[in-house]
Amino acid sequence: MEDFKIASEVKLTGISRRKFLKMMSAAGLGTMAFGASGCSSSSASGKIVIIGGGAAGISMAARLKRLLSNPNITIIDPSDLHYYQPGFTLIASGVYSPDEVYKKQSDCIPSGVKWVKDSVVGVDPDKNKVMTLKNGVIDYDFLVLAPGLQINWDGVEGITRETLGQGDAYCIYDHQGAIRTWQGMQKFVEKGGRGIYTDTYTKHKCGGAPKKICLLSEHLARKKGTRKNLKLDFFTASKVLYDVPYFTPRLLEIYKERDVSISTRVRVKGVDTFAKKVHMEKIVVSSEKQKDANGVEKVVEKRTYEPFVEDYDFLHFLPPMTAPDFVKQSGLSWTEGKLAPEGWAATNKETLVHNKYKNIMVVGDVAGIPTSKTSAAIRKQAPVAAKNLVSIMEGKEPAEKYNGYAACPIVTEYGKLIMCEFDYDKKEQISFPLNFWDMSKEQAVGWYLKVYMLKPLYFYGMLNGLV
Ligand SMILES: Cc1cc2nc3c(=O)[nH]c(=O)nc-3n(C[C@H](O)[C@H](O)[C@H](O)COP(=O)(O)OP(=O)(O)OC[C@H]3O[C@@H](n4cnc5c(N)ncnc54)[C@H](O)[C@@H]3O)c2cc1C
Repeated sequence: MEDFKIASEVKLTGISRRKFLKMMSAAGLGTMAFGASGCSSSSASGKIVIIGGGAAGISMAARLKRLLSNPNITIIDPSDLHYYQPGFTLIASGVYSPDEVYKKQSDCIPSGVKWVKDSVVGVDPDKNKVMTLKNGVIDYDFLVLAPGLQINWDGVEGITRETLGQGDAYCIYDHQGAIRTWQGMQKFVEKGGRGIYTDTYTKHKCGGAPKKICLLSEHLARKKGTRKNLKLDFFTASKVLYDVPYFTPRLLEIYKERDVSISTRVRVKGVDTFAKKVHMEKIVVSSEKQKDANGVEKVVEKRTYEPFVEDYDFLHFLPPMTAPDFVKQSGLSWTEGKLAPEGWAATNKETLVHNKYKNIMVVGDVAGIPTSKTSAAIRKQAPVAAKNLVSIMEGKEPAEKYNGYAACPIVTEYGKLIMCEFDYDKKEQISFPLNFWDMSKEQAVGWYLKVYMLKPLYFYGMLNGLV
């Protein structure tokens, strides 16, 4: 097996923390970041508990620590390791080696912040209490809800997180899963056959990742001269492949140019890993008139599901995702609307304050807000949420507003990607200095940014509250 060879073909040397901070300060970004997070610290007091030490939780801890003169911050998180998840796609395509995407959690938690290594099992938001698995009840004055999302591996029959790779069915939304995907992808590209790539019908993190792994398989086959032996089909549960108007046309063109078929409104039910068959359902959407309790007639959407089965030689699938169970069980989720069934936390989409509990901030994937679940989004959410929390602690109204910014670099081939950046209105939000290029199309500059810059930016910049 060709082990992570592509990495050495395309990689420059890694960037150390020192080098990164030097580059930041040379670019004037260090000062900007410190200025933005506020040198003027607040004397507001109160015990802050942060649930989750992922991208959102650690960014919030770092920012709050800088904003408060006497911070009292506790993070609750059970994990020993902190993963840079955007790197999973690059492991699965042989660009990164598996040990390049994580650090010890103890090295990520800011100094002076207390770490309770435990899982939260419930929150009593009326009494300001958090229930943990091993450490009993922990009180708070202010809560930051940042436990990410829950991947429901049991939502696809016939395969589990542990058996990923069995029957050549893979998923890159897991570290081991990404490692196995790279092994499977090389085998597939060498042997040929039919590749099926799917997403899922719930909201999920990084909507671009299933597309990236599909397009990277296609390019790998071209590089190896075996493309003619492969048939590639992409199935999405959405009604369109991608719905940010600025970026969609080129993405559709790329699928056409590369001869990858697109089927919409399809979801995966299960996988028969022995027979290499994927069981799917066509989602048929219709509308019908119904009367509500007051006898008022309204049009409601009706969905029916038509089962079908497809043979595959290589499968990439996504399990459905929801908010962690304890969020819904604690009464923190939306109770009506599109975001309610999956339990996303009821959040004000601008201030990131919980809709009902004004001493709770919601940041990251768990937030029930209409934007993409990405760490790029968190980079813009954390400064807003941290400043608003300090305002609340000072007895003021939260004034900072988040515009829904999210970014998803859709890797289209080894060496290029479309840097999709947009806001709540699905309007493109191109970052300086990338507006020198036509960012509605794939660009090499985005690839270099993703492969060499975004990881140090994450570990040294974002997790330190600097960017
Ligand atoms: C394959 C893949 C590719 C991606 N690509 C990109 C990309 O290119 N660009 C991009 O911006 N984003 C990308 N993302 C998305 C990005 O990684 C997530 O949006 C981001 O990590 C979410 O941060 P978070 O803090 O909300 O959750 P996480 O980073 O997942 O952290 C959640 C933390 O909460 C902890 N936790 C969970 N449950 C509990 C509990 N009950 N009690 C206490 N702690 C708990 C966990 O241990 C974890 O440390 C990708 C993700 C994947 C999987």
